[in-house]
Amino acid sequence: MGFVSEAWVLEAAKSPLVRKQIELPDPADDRAIVEVSACGLCHTDLGFADGSVMPKKGIPIVLGHEIVGKVVAAGGAGKHLIGKNVLVPAVLPCGSCVFCRAGRGNACPKQEMPGNDVHGGFATHVDVRSAPLVPLDGAPEGFDLREISVVADAVSTAYQAIVRADVREGDLAVVVGAGGVGGFAVQIARALGARVVAIDVDRGRLDLIEKHGASALYQIDKAKPFKDLRKDVQKVMAGFGVASLRHRIFECSGTAPGQQLAFSLIGSGATMVQVGYCRDPIEVRLSNLMAFDATVHGSWGAPVEIYPDCLRLVFERKVALTPFIQHAPMSRIDALFDDMAHHRLERRAVLDPRA
Ligand SMILES: [Zn+2]
Ligand SMILES: [Zn+2]
Repeated sequence: MGFVSEAWVLEAAKSPLVRKQIELPDPADDRAIVEVSACGLCHTDLGFADGSVMPKKGIPIVLGHEIVGKVVAAGGAGKHLIGKNVLVPAVLPCGSCVFCRAGRGNACPKQEMPGNDVHGGFATHVDVRSAPLVPLDGAPEGFDLREISVVADAVSTAYQAIVRADVREGDLAVVVGAGGVGGFAVQIARALGARVVAIDVDRGRLDLIEKHGASALYQIDKAKPFKDLRKDVQKVMAGFGVASLRHRIFECSGTAPGQQLAFSLIGSGATMVQVGYCRDPIEVRLSNLMAFDATVHGSWGAPVEIYPDCLRLVFERKVALTPFIQHAPMSRIDALFDDMAHHRLERRAVLDPRA
Protein backbone atom coordinates (compact mmCIF):
# COMPACT_ATOMS: atom_id res chain seq x y z
CA MET A 1 0.00 0.00 0.00
CA GLY A 2 2.81 2.44 0.82
CA PHE A 3 2.61 6.00 2.15
CA VAL A 4 1.97 9.34 0.52
CA SER A 5 4.30 12.07 1.72
CA GLU A 6 3.51 15.77 1.34
CA ALA A 7 6.94 17.10 0.47
CA TRP A 8 8.65 20.38 -0.39
CA VAL A 9 10.82 19.50 -3.36
CA LEU A 10 13.93 21.28 -4.65
CA GLU A 11 13.44 21.01 -8.42
CA ALA A 12 16.01 23.59 -9.46
CA ALA A 13 18.65 25.54 -7.55
CA LYS A 14 17.83 29.18 -6.71
CA SER A 15 14.10 28.65 -7.20
CA PRO A 16 11.25 28.17 -4.69
CA LEU A 17 10.59 24.68 -3.37
CA VAL A 18 7.60 22.96 -4.93
CA ARG A 19 4.99 21.28 -2.72
CA LYS A 20 4.27 17.80 -4.08
CA GLN A 21 3.03 14.38 -3.10
CA ILE A 22 5.62 11.63 -3.18
CA GLU A 23 4.70 7.95 -2.96
CA LEU A 24 6.84 5.96 -0.54
CA PRO A 25 6.87 2.21 -0.99
CA ASP A 26 6.37 -0.17 1.94
CA PRO A 27 9.70 -0.21 3.77
CA ALA A 28 12.31 -2.81 2.86
CA ASP A 29 13.63 -5.12 5.58
CA ASP A 30 16.24 -2.66 6.85
CA ARG A 31 14.18 0.54 6.43
CA ALA A 32 11.43 2.45 8.21
CA ILE A 33 8.91 5.15 7.40
CA VAL A 34 9.08 8.01 9.90
CA GLU A 35 6.19 10.46 10.17
CA VAL A 36 8.02 13.77 10.58
CA SER A 37 7.08 15.82 13.67
CA ALA A 38 9.69 18.46 12.97
CA CYS A 39 12.74 19.06 10.80
CA GLY A 40 15.46 21.61 11.50
CA LEU A 41 16.71 24.00 8.83
CA CYS A 42 20.49 23.95 8.46
CA HIS A 43 23.05 25.97 6.48
CA THR A 44 23.79 22.82 4.50
CA ASP A 45 20.20 22.95 3.16
CA LEU A 46 20.76 26.54 2.06
CA GLY A 47 23.95 25.50 0.23
CA PHE A 48 21.94 22.91 -1.74
CA ALA A 49 19.02 25.28 -2.39
CA ASP A 50 21.14 28.19 -3.59
CA GLY A 51 23.17 25.99 -5.92
CA SER A 52 26.56 26.32 -4.20
CA VAL A 53 26.62 22.56 -3.46
CA MET A 54 24.96 19.77 -5.44
CA PRO A 55 23.18 17.14 -3.31
CA LYS A 56 24.69 13.68 -3.89
CA LYS A 57 21.31 12.36 -5.01
CA GLY A 58 21.06 15.22 -7.51
CA ILE A 59 17.95 17.31 -8.15
CA PRO A 60 14.96 16.93 -7.67
CA ILE A 61 15.36 16.19 -3.98
CA VAL A 62 13.54 16.77 -0.69
CA LEU A 63 16.04 18.51 1.62
CA GLY A 64 16.21 18.37 5.45
CA HIS A 65 18.41 16.20 7.69
CA GLU A 66 17.45 17.21 11.25
CA ILE A 67 14.45 14.98 11.68
CA VAL A 68 12.43 13.88 14.66
CA GLY A 69 9.24 11.89 14.27
CA LYS A 70 7.33 8.70 14.86
CA VAL A 71 7.97 5.35 13.17
CA VAL A 72 4.75 4.38 11.37
CA ALA A 73 6.05 1.40 9.39
CA ALA A 74 9.21 -0.70 9.35
CA GLY A 75 10.60 -3.77 7.64
CA GLY A 76 11.39 -6.92 9.64
CA ALA A 77 14.57 -5.71 11.33
CA GLY A 78 12.98 -2.52 12.65
CA LYS A 79 9.47 -3.71 13.58
CA HIS A 80 10.11 -3.12 17.31
CA LEU A 81 10.38 0.62 16.53
CA ILE A 82 6.84 0.98 15.18
CA GLY A 83 4.92 3.55 17.24
CA LYS A 84 8.06 4.97 18.87
CA ASN A 85 9.22 8.57 18.71
CA VAL A 86 12.70 8.62 17.24
CA LEU A 87 15.54 10.92 16.36
CA VAL A 88 16.87 10.35 12.84
CA PRO A 89 20.66 10.91 12.95
CA ALA A 90 21.84 13.31 10.24
CA VAL A 91 24.12 10.56 8.96
CA LEU A 92 22.81 7.00 8.87
CA PRO A 93 25.77 4.62 8.50
CA CYS A 94 25.63 1.16 6.88
CA GLY A 95 26.47 -0.51 10.20
CA SER A 96 28.72 -3.23 8.79
CA CYS A 97 31.77 -1.75 7.03
CA VAL A 98 35.23 -1.34 8.54
CA PHE A 99 34.44 2.27 9.58
CA CYS A 100 31.17 1.33 11.27
CA ARG A 101 32.74 -1.61 13.11
CA ALA A 102 35.43 0.75 14.44
CA GLY A 103 32.81 3.18 15.81
CA ARG A 104 33.54 5.67 13.03
CA GLY A 105 30.17 5.42 11.27
CA ASN A 106 30.17 9.19 10.73
CA ALA A 107 32.88 8.53 8.11
CA CYS A 108 31.13 5.42 6.68
CA PRO A 109 31.57 5.45 2.88
CA LYS A 110 28.10 3.90 2.48
CA GLN A 111 26.40 6.39 4.79
CA GLU A 112 23.03 7.85 3.92
CA MET A 113 22.20 11.44 4.74
CA PRO A 114 18.55 12.43 4.36
CA GLY A 115 18.22 15.48 2.15
CA ASN A 116 21.52 14.67 0.43
CA ASP A 117 21.82 10.97 -0.47
CA VAL A 118 18.08 10.27 -0.18
CA HIS A 119 14.92 12.36 0.22
CA GLY A 120 14.91 14.23 3.52
CA GLY A 121 12.64 15.68 6.17
CA PHE A 122 11.02 18.70 4.52
CA ALA A 123 8.02 16.42 4.19
CA THR A 124 5.37 14.67 6.25
CA HIS A 125 7.09 11.27 5.85
CA VAL A 126 10.60 10.02 5.20
CA ASP A 127 12.02 6.60 4.27
CA VAL A 128 15.26 5.87 6.19
CA ARG A 129 17.48 3.04 7.44
CA SER A 130 15.93 1.67 10.63
CA ALA A 131 18.98 0.39 12.56
CA PRO A 132 20.50 3.83 13.32
CA LEU A 133 17.20 5.38 14.57
CA VAL A 134 17.43 6.58 18.17
CA PRO A 135 14.30 5.99 20.31
CA LEU A 136 13.38 8.97 22.51
CA ASP A 137 11.99 6.87 25.37
CA GLY A 138 14.21 8.67 27.91
CA ALA A 139 12.57 12.08 27.39
CA PRO A 140 11.22 13.65 30.58
CA GLU A 141 7.49 14.38 30.92
CA GLY A 142 6.41 17.39 28.91
CA PHE A 143 9.65 17.70 26.89
CA ASP A 144 8.90 19.25 23.49
CA LEU A 145 10.31 16.48 21.27
CA ARG A 146 10.30 18.74 18.21
CA GLU A 147 13.28 20.53 19.74
CA ILE A 148 15.28 17.28 19.54
CA SER A 149 15.54 17.81 15.77
CA VAL A 150 18.57 20.03 16.40
CA VAL A 151 20.28 17.14 18.19
CA ALA A 152 20.29 15.20 14.88
CA ASP A 153 23.03 17.47 13.61
CA ALA A 154 24.06 20.64 15.46
CA VAL A 155 24.14 19.27 19.02
CA SER A 156 25.51 15.81 18.17
CA THR A 157 28.20 17.30 15.91
CA ALA A 158 29.33 19.48 18.81
CA TYR A 159 29.17 16.54 21.21
CA GLN A 160 31.28 14.33 18.94
CA ALA A 161 33.92 17.07 18.58
CA ILE A 162 34.06 17.37 22.38
CA VAL A 163 34.42 13.57 22.74
CA ARG A 164 37.12 13.57 20.07
CA ALA A 165 39.06 16.19 22.01
CA ASP A 166 38.65 14.23 25.26
CA VAL A 167 37.33 17.24 27.19
CA ARG A 168 37.51 16.69 30.95
CA GLU A 169 36.84 18.45 34.22
CA GLY A 170 39.26 21.35 34.66
CA ASP A 171 40.10 21.76 30.96
CA LEU A 172 40.04 25.09 29.21
CA ALA A 173 37.92 24.94 26.05
CA VAL A 174 38.14 27.71 23.48
CA VAL A 175 35.29 27.88 20.97
CA VAL A 176 35.84 30.04 17.90
CA GLY A 177 32.40 30.83 16.45
CA ALA A 178 29.78 30.73 19.19
CA GLY A 179 26.60 30.42 17.10
CA GLY A 180 24.94 27.17 15.97
CA VAL A 181 27.23 24.17 16.51
CA GLY A 182 29.69 26.39 18.39
CA GLY A 183 27.04 27.49 20.87
CA PHE A 184 26.24 23.87 21.65
CA ALA A 185 29.98 23.11 21.93
CA VAL A 186 30.21 25.79 24.63
CA GLN A 187 27.31 24.26 26.56
CA ILE A 188 28.56 20.67 26.28
CA ALA A 189 32.16 21.51 27.25
CA ARG A 190 30.80 23.35 30.29
CA ALA A 191 28.50 20.43 31.17
CA LEU A 192 31.55 18.14 31.17
CA GLY A 193 33.38 20.40 33.61
CA ALA A 194 35.53 22.58 31.37
CA ARG A 195 35.71 26.35 31.56
CA VAL A 196 34.99 27.91 28.19
CA VAL A 197 36.18 30.97 26.30
CA ALA A 198 33.64 31.85 23.58
CA ILE A 199 34.88 33.90 20.63
CA ASP A 200 32.69 35.50 17.98
CA VAL A 201 32.28 38.61 15.87
CA ASP A 202 28.64 38.96 16.95
CA ARG A 203 27.83 40.57 20.31
CA GLY A 204 24.30 39.10 20.42
CA ARG A 205 25.59 35.54 20.12
CA LEU A 206 28.15 36.14 22.85
CA ASP A 207 25.57 37.66 25.20
CA LEU A 208 23.30 34.65 24.73
CA ILE A 209 26.06 32.08 25.27
CA GLU A 210 27.26 33.90 28.37
CA LYS A 211 24.01 32.78 30.01
CA HIS A 212 24.62 29.20 28.86
CA GLY A 213 28.08 28.15 29.89
CA ALA A 214 30.71 30.59 28.64
CA SER A 215 33.16 31.63 31.37
CA ALA A 216 34.73 34.39 29.27
CA LEU A 217 33.78 36.14 26.05
CA TYR A 218 35.90 37.71 23.37
CA GLN A 219 34.36 39.75 20.58
CA ILE A 220 36.44 39.90 17.42
CA ASP A 221 36.96 43.34 15.98
CA LYS A 222 37.53 42.62 12.30
CA ALA A 223 39.49 45.85 11.91
CA LYS A 224 42.10 44.77 14.46
CA PRO A 225 45.40 43.32 13.16
CA PHE A 226 45.58 39.53 13.49
CA LYS A 227 48.61 39.66 15.79
CA ASP A 228 46.74 41.83 18.29
CA LEU A 229 43.65 39.59 18.20
CA ARG A 230 45.78 36.56 18.91
CA LYS A 231 47.54 38.30 21.78
CA ASP A 232 44.20 39.42 23.26
CA VAL A 233 42.80 35.90 23.19
CA GLN A 234 46.01 34.37 24.55
CA LYS A 235 45.77 36.82 27.45
CA VAL A 236 42.17 35.77 28.19
CA MET A 237 43.24 32.11 28.05
CA ALA A 238 46.25 32.68 30.30
CA GLY A 239 43.92 34.21 32.89
CA PHE A 240 42.50 30.75 33.63
CA GLY A 241 45.90 29.34 34.62
CA VAL A 242 45.28 26.02 32.85
CA ALA A 243 48.36 24.32 31.33
CA SER A 244 48.26 24.29 27.52
CA LEU A 245 48.30 20.48 27.67
CA ARG A 246 44.64 20.78 28.74
CA HIS A 247 43.65 23.42 26.18
CA ARG A 248 40.91 22.21 23.84
CA ILE A 249 40.37 24.52 20.85
CA PHE A 250 37.27 24.15 18.68
CA GLU A 251 37.05 25.93 15.33
CA CYS A 252 33.31 26.20 14.69
CA SER A 253 33.09 29.43 12.68
CA GLY A 254 33.76 27.78 9.34
CA THR A 255 35.62 30.88 8.19
CA ALA A 256 39.23 31.28 7.06
CA PRO A 257 40.02 33.97 9.68
CA GLY A 258 38.44 31.77 12.38
CA GLN A 259 40.61 28.84 11.33
CA GLN A 260 43.68 31.05 11.27
CA LEU A 261 42.97 32.24 14.80
CA ALA A 262 42.17 28.77 16.18
CA PHE A 263 45.39 27.30 14.77
CA SER A 264 47.45 30.18 16.16
CA LEU A 265 46.16 29.43 19.70
CA ILE A 266 47.68 25.94 19.75
CA GLY A 267 50.33 25.68 22.45
CA SER A 268 52.43 22.83 23.84
CA GLY A 269 50.52 19.56 23.97
CA ALA A 270 47.24 21.27 23.06
CA THR A 271 44.41 19.76 21.03
CA MET A 272 42.39 21.47 18.30
CA VAL A 273 39.33 20.18 16.50
CA GLN A 274 38.20 21.55 13.14
CA VAL A 275 34.38 21.49 13.13
CA GLY A 276 33.37 24.34 10.82
CA TYR A 277 33.61 24.18 7.04
CA CYS A 278 34.68 26.67 4.42
CA ARG A 279 36.19 26.28 0.98
CA ASP A 280 38.93 28.88 1.38
CA PRO A 281 42.42 27.54 2.07
CA ILE A 282 44.53 29.11 4.80
CA GLU A 283 48.27 29.19 5.25
CA VAL A 284 49.64 27.76 8.50
CA ARG A 285 53.00 26.55 9.74
CA LEU A 286 52.16 22.87 10.13
CA SER A 287 55.50 22.30 11.83
CA ASN A 288 54.06 24.02 14.91
CA LEU A 289 52.26 20.73 15.56
CA MET A 290 55.62 18.98 15.63
CA ALA A 291 57.30 21.64 17.72
CA PHE A 292 54.41 21.74 20.22
CA ASP A 293 53.71 17.98 20.19
CA ALA A 294 50.14 19.12 19.50
CA THR A 295 47.14 17.43 17.91
CA VAL A 296 44.58 18.59 15.35
CA HIS A 297 41.51 16.49 14.60
CA GLY A 298 38.84 16.90 11.96
CA SER A 299 35.36 15.99 13.15
CA TRP A 300 32.36 15.54 10.91
CA GLY A 301 28.89 14.67 12.16
CA ALA A 302 28.55 12.01 14.82
CA PRO A 303 28.55 8.21 14.98
CA VAL A 304 25.18 6.82 16.13
CA GLU A 305 26.75 5.30 19.26
CA ILE A 306 27.14 8.71 20.93
CA TYR A 307 23.49 9.83 20.63
CA PRO A 308 22.25 8.31 23.92
CA ASP A 309 24.93 10.14 25.97
CA CYS A 310 24.34 13.34 24.03
CA LEU A 311 20.57 13.10 24.56
CA ARG A 312 21.07 12.50 28.28
CA LEU A 313 22.71 15.94 28.60
CA VAL A 314 19.72 17.45 26.81
CA PHE A 315 17.11 15.57 28.85
CA GLU A 316 18.93 16.50 32.08
CA ARG A 317 18.73 20.10 30.82
CA LYS A 318 22.50 20.53 30.99
CA VAL A 319 22.31 21.61 27.36
CA ALA A 320 19.51 24.10 26.65
CA LEU A 321 17.79 24.00 23.27
CA THR A 322 14.78 26.32 23.66
CA PRO A 323 16.69 29.67 23.66
CA PHE A 324 18.44 28.67 20.42
CA ILE A 325 15.36 27.56 18.49
CA GLN A 326 12.43 29.17 16.70
CA HIS A 327 9.45 27.18 15.50
CA ALA A 328 8.09 27.89 12.04
CA PRO A 329 5.63 26.36 9.57
CA MET A 330 7.31 24.44 6.74
CA SER A 331 5.17 26.40 4.28
CA ARG A 332 7.42 29.41 5.10
CA ILE A 333 10.54 27.57 3.96
CA ASP A 334 11.40 29.89 1.06
CA ALA A 335 11.15 33.00 3.24
CA LEU A 336 13.32 31.29 5.87
CA PHE A 337 15.96 30.42 3.26
CA ASP A 338 15.96 34.10 2.30
CA ASP A 339 16.33 35.15 5.95
CA MET A 340 19.16 32.67 6.39
CA ALA A 341 20.97 33.88 3.25
CA HIS A 342 20.79 37.46 4.55
CA HIS A 343 21.84 36.56 8.11
CA ARG A 344 18.47 37.55 9.54
CA LEU A 345 17.85 34.15 11.14
CA GLU A 346 19.15 34.43 14.67
CA ARG A 347 17.93 31.09 15.96
CA ARG A 348 17.79 27.65 14.39
CA ALA A 349 14.46 27.18 12.63
CA VAL A 350 12.52 24.01 13.46
CA LEU A 351 9.88 23.38 10.83
CA ASP A 352 6.44 21.85 11.21
CA PRO A 353 5.53 19.90 8.04
CA ARG A 354 1.82 20.18 8.77
CA ALA A 355 1.68 23.95 8.89
ZN1 LIG B 1 23.04 20.29 9.17
ZN1 LIG C 1 29.55 1.66 7.23
